[in-house]
Amino acid sequence: MTTTLEVEPLSLTLRTPFTLSYGTTTARENLLIRLRTGDQVALGEAAIVPYYHETAGRVTAYVASPAVQGAVNHDPLHLEDALNALPPTPSSFARAALDIALHDRWGAALGEPLWRLWGLNPARCPATSYTIAMDDDEAAYLERVRAAGQRFSLLKLKAGSPAGWERDWQRIQAARQVTDAALCVDANNGWDRAAAQAIIPRLSELGVVFVEQPLPRGDLDGWREVRRVLPADHPPLIADEAVQGVESVAPLAGLADGINIKLAKCGGLRPARDMIALARAFGMQIMIGCMVESSVAVTAAAHLAPLADYADLDANLLIANDPFAGVLLEGDQLILPDRPGLGVTARVAA
Ligand code: MG
Repeated sequence: MTTTLEVEPLSLTLRTPFTLSYGTTTARENLLIRLRTGDQVALGEAAIVPYYHETAGRVTAYVASPAVQGAVNHDPLHLEDALNALPPTPSSFARAALDIALHDRWGAALGEPLWRLWGLNPARCPATSYTIAMDDDEAAYLERVRAAGQRFSLLKLKAGSPAGWERDWQRIQAARQVTDAALCVDANNGWDRAAAQAIIPRLSELGVVFVEQPLPRGDLDGWREVRRVLPADHPPLIADEAVQGVESVAPLAGLADGINIKLAKCGGLRPARDMIALARAFGMQIMIGCMVESSVAVTAAAHLAPLADYADLDANLLIANDPFAGVLLEGDQLILPDRPGLGVTARVAA
């Protein structure tokens, strides 16, 4: 049976403008992929992330290529064949969208959720952290921290302020005063070596659970240098932007204590599972993260959460107009859908 491939815009509006070290975001134009086989429809999503230089045109061109059409025409049960037949592309985002849709179709064909097909226990999902973007309105920022801390046991504070690490430190100290929730800090490449050496010991004293991407992504010598001077009990350093696909894990062994895996960066669920196995072999911790994405991509990532130490899967909460429902939250506990494949359904308009 032939499979048709459809691509359509997926316009996401954020509930509040989101500021991190790259700038401020209020909306995202992602792409939704539908694989239609008979009356079965499988879903995938490509995040279009400006700071990764991805474009809708590049993703659409890839999805429309004859080789991709050939790949999706494989038997839905022959998932590995279909994935192997996807042609190479520099776009991990396009690749992830197709990988997600092919997994959704595979699970649907077998009548089971992905987590069950992988033998995972959904009760092992770590609680998701909740991200607090930077905000120069101090009162509004602290109110956001306080309110989020009532629901979430781990708050991720964005840092890497253009005003310097002292501004980050001031904000994080202030946040510490208004919530009992555990705190972690994501600098998004925003510090240099001197800043990282200055602030991380302070964060350690404040009990910060981990520090994410403290240095620019390409500065592996910086990771080495900073680690040498940090106190032995420093919080784990988690690589995010420095990690892309499977090939990027080994160079970080001994430098990063963990990696933040995102389907959009690595190209989907299969490479993500490979990365988890590889990182564990190096003794690294695992975080499963996401981009600004709807419940399609966030739910796909959530199926891997039972394998992770940390989950950062709050993106669908930040979106005002998510057209889909999948993974749910009870408090900050991820509840994986018990439906075949991704288990994502269209949200019925109220
Ligand atoms: Mg990050």
